[in-house]
Amino acid sequence: MPETMYPEYFSVRMRAAEGKAHELGGKHISGGERLGNRLQLEVIATELLAKASNHSRGSADFIQLVVEKVPGEELQFIPPLDVSAIEVATVQEGHDKAKDQLAAAGVSERAIEHAFLILNHERNLRGAAIVNCETGERLDERGQKGVRVSRMDWTDCGHVADSVRVREALALATKVAQSPYTVAELCWSDDPDYVTGYVSSQQLGYVRISPLKRMGCESGGRVFFVHNDVDIDSYIDFLERKPVFIQGGESE
Ligand code: AMP
Repeated sequence: MPETMYPEYFSVRMRAAEGKAHELGGKHISGGERLGNRLQLEVIATELLAKASNHSRGSADFIQLVVEKVPGEELQFIPPLDVSAIEVATVQEGHDKAKDQLAAAGVSERAIEHAFLILNHERNLRGAAIVNCETGERLDERGQKGVRVSRMDWTDCGHVADSVRVREALALATKVAQSPYTVAELCWSDDPDYVTGYVSSQQLGYVRISPLKRMGCESGGRVFFVHNDVDIDSYIDFLERKPVFIQGGESE
């Protein structure tokens, strides 16, 4: 098909920091990655600005919005991961459940321990760390910046999940799990008032675990565990650049 036959879609990315821009040492407040057509751009931009402005991590005084056209012929449509939930009484129990799930997905104990060390660090990542699922070695060389997954969104407003936060996280986790290099993902938020985290993979689905951290704690982040034979450059290119729409779900 000639390029003009494909509908036009745009990636919209937002990052917000307090004090000064991230690269100048400002504190990371919020980020967001969306995908939409030309008519949706204004709404998406407004939603991302609202996300940056009403945040429990602080008051953003640097906000950057980037809009880029994505190649229509590369668009992929995939269903969301199945969602399940585990409620536990303590953070320690939450960690134990997450570790069990990761081990079941094929992540070594060493890699699991390294991931927990990364996510418990008081200096947060702004993106994800990519970790070898066997050796536990961190493979990306992005430091505090990590790797930001972008160019993913829902095709519609179907209520597959109960909140914007879960919808965003489920879209991200579904895209990440789509890569054959991904073994599993571990996430908990850096927002001090949000204690639910998740473990996900193609086999496990999206497993919400609550609590995975204590209320008031600002540590958080994401770790993507990958196979030993990963081609790291093409993996990062997929995460950052491949446009993916999540389509359908249990309500449809
Ligand atoms: P959030 O789920 O937005 O509270 O984000 C929790 C943590 O996940 C952040 O501190 C980042 O380290 C990481 N993160 C958030 N968004 C992304 C993304 N698009 N790609 C990779 N990592 C992300």
